[in-house]
Amino acid sequence: MTGATALGAAALGGVGGAWLQRLADAARLPPEASPRALLDDASGLNPTPVRGLAFADASPEVTADRLAPLLGRIAAGQEPSLAVSGARHSMGGQSLLRDGWVLDALPLNGMTLDPAAGLMRVGGGALWRDIIPALNAQGFAPTVMQSNNDFTIGGTLSVNAHGWHANSPPVASTVRRLMLLTADGQVVTCSPEENAELFGLALGGYGLFGVILEAEIAVRPNVIYAPDFAVMPTRDYPAAFAARVYAPGSPVEMAYGRLSVDPDRLFEEAVLGCYTPVPETRGTVMPLPALAHGGLQRLVFRNAAAGDTGKALRWWLEREAGPWLAGAVSRNSLLNEPAAVFANREAGSTDILHEYFVPQARLGDFAEAARPIIRREEGNLLNVTVRDIRRDTRSALAYAREDMFGLVMLFVQETSAAGEERMQRMTRALVDAAIEAGGSHYLPYRLHATGDQLRRAYPAWDGVIEAQRRHDPKGVFRNGLFRRYAEA
Ligand SMILES: Cc1cc2nc3c(=O)[nH]c(=O)nc-3n(C[C@H](O)[C@H](O)[C@H](O)COP(=O)(O)OP(=O)(O)OC[C@H]3O[C@@H](n4cnc5c(N)ncnc54)[C@H](O)[C@@H]3O)c2cc1C
Repeated sequence: MTGATALGAAALGGVGGAWLQRLADAARLPPEASPRALLDDASGLNPTPVRGLAFADASPEVTADRLAPLLGRIAAGQEPSLAVSGARHSMGGQSLLRDGWVLDALPLNGMTLDPAAGLMRVGGGALWRDIIPALNAQGFAPTVMQSNNDFTIGGTLSVNAHGWHANSPPVASTVRRLMLLTADGQVVTCSPEENAELFGLALGGYGLFGVILEAEIAVRPNVIYAPDFAVMPTRDYPAAFAARVYAPGSPVEMAYGRLSVDPDRLFEEAVLGCYTPVPETRGTVMPLPALAHGGLQRLVFRNAAAGDTGKALRWWLEREAGPWLAGAVSRNSLLNEPAAVFANREAGSTDILHEYFVPQARLGDFAEAARPIIRREEGNLLNVTVRDIRRDTRSALAYAREDMFGLVMLFVQETSAAGEERMQRMTRALVDAAIEAGGSHYLPYRLHATGDQLRRAYPAWDGVIEAQRRHDPKGVFRNGLFRRYAEA
């Protein structure tokens, strides 16, 4: 509540005061959306009618104050629930709510760096593409983030994202403190020491435990890396990775794998790319190169969507030419890549991401199980990246309950009922294969997994939902993920 409104309410007093206060609050509600307004997410497959769109403010305090009347009316059953949305790069309605309210968190974009402590305080709606240049200007870089720069901090923390930083748990491990607007309209600070339960629930909590107004995250000095690459059979990848990255004193700070998308040798071969610091470059302030637009790389990548020859060419170039083209590069410029560089611009199809987490020793088993599934369903697979994710001890809904490899798969899907049906069948079979290998699937993508699969992949799910109902008994925060798996 703003000072002026609080004073006004106190002056009114009594029952009449409460009635007048409700009128005053109603005047402060965000406008309703027009009946035909549809919001969508990065999949382009979730056109969603909403009751209205509320906007955050740059200031966490003003945002909390602005939302208080709406949250109060939702809790009183006078308005439908609210979903929190960041850049809406999730793909299954996690940031949307059919016929409900949606909070656009993007304006919450303040940021301040404490170089001495290596900490950044950043608004929940700030985008990595704005954060990276701010860090870069002072010789700093993100500790953990996704592979692209298009996402908000709130979205990153709410899915508990991971990147391709070697030897690191997901991003939750880098968070010192959260400022959360909870269902009862309170602003709550949480950290490992304060409101620790809520802290673990909100990290990877998909916006169901409150609005992340602000976060304090650990950052680290920027540095220049030199890359090196090795090609191997996929079965040998876990041992090669451990020898290179986990060896005591290993200098590797960023590492990824790619698996063959050549249809004749699907998943049989892997490339391991490692990035090690160039001496005496840590912490130096260096210009951030202009954002890439793709050029020839984009052409080869997208050409793979057209057929088997394009995929074979893509893999050959990845294996043979990639290492020759790669040169020394700063941590920030590796992380500052926009997703648009490789994005699908064709009408009639959309790019759909999948990710499966498997215990590291089971990578080969999962690859063997996934190959016939993708062939049978004619999955149009453009890319598979392998990420190293160390055990997560922070998020209540952890996907990395032991050291995992995450296999990020990029498919092109026809935007038709038949395309959707085929994708659902393939996803369910791949989820079973991941569970069979002792792993799980990632939740920001399409919600094709069955409720039974979700509970097998995430044994903590029912407990987390029970905690959600305890922290939010009136159902203020809801979204497509909750509707799909907690209400069905
Ligand atoms: C091209 C592409 C590449 C990707 N690469 C990676 C990757 O390398 N690693 C990885 O881990 N993931 C990756 N992802 C998944 C991505 O990390 C998530 O979809 C992430 O949530 C996107 O952030 P966003 O700002 O778009 O969030 P949204 O999609 O807007 O929201 C995601 C969830 O966060 C909640 N949320 C958003 N903001 C807030 C807030 N302020 N407070 C509370 N809750 C909030 C929403 O309610 C929703 O449940 C990728 C996705 C795409 C499309």
